[in-house]
Amino acid sequence: MDDSLCEALSKACGECHLAGGCCFEARPPLSQKRIDILVANGVSPDAIEFAGYKRLKLRPDGFCMLFQDGRCAVHSIKPETCVAGPFTFDMLGSTLRIFLKKESICPMVRILKADRKAYDGLFEVSTEKIIDLVRALPTSELEEILKIEEPETDLVAEISLEDWKPCPEQCKRH
Ligand code: SF4
Repeated sequence: MDDSLCEALSKACGECHLAGGCCFEARPPLSQKRIDILVANGVSPDAIEFAGYKRLKLRPDGFCMLFQDGRCAVHSIKPETCVAGPFTFDMLGSTLRIFLKKESICPMVRILKADRKAYDGLFEVSTEKIIDLVRALPTSELEEILKIEEPETDLVAEISLEDWKPCPEQCKRH
């Protein structure tokens, strides 16, 4: 992704009427591998809780424990669902279903929809991160995560995980 596009996406995040909305009431799920990376980089184990699955805690003001000074304190190693950003997921059997947040709740989506190259780049990174997470989680924890509703999203792709290879070969776009 080129610098001007990164800048435009960052600007869109900054203009979000929710101001840090993605990190408000966000409890990103964590694989053990992600926990090990976070802890090795100074995140306190006290920032993590188990509620059917391992996840980051919220602060009393409702923001993620790692949201500091208006930004993510662990940007370069943030959890997979945080990297995926406006893309979210669900599963139907062994089919991974990728959803995109509606423009009304994420200003970044408008920019992505206007720039196919940017959309494809972020879609590919997001899908790979989500698949890494899905494969790393214990089944019982994944089942708990899949119970979480993701309103205001549109289905944008379905991917069979049985013989998944990096996109675009295996992606059935909607
Ligand atoms: S880990 Fe970072 S990007 Fe993810 S919710 Fe927490 S502060 Fe936001």
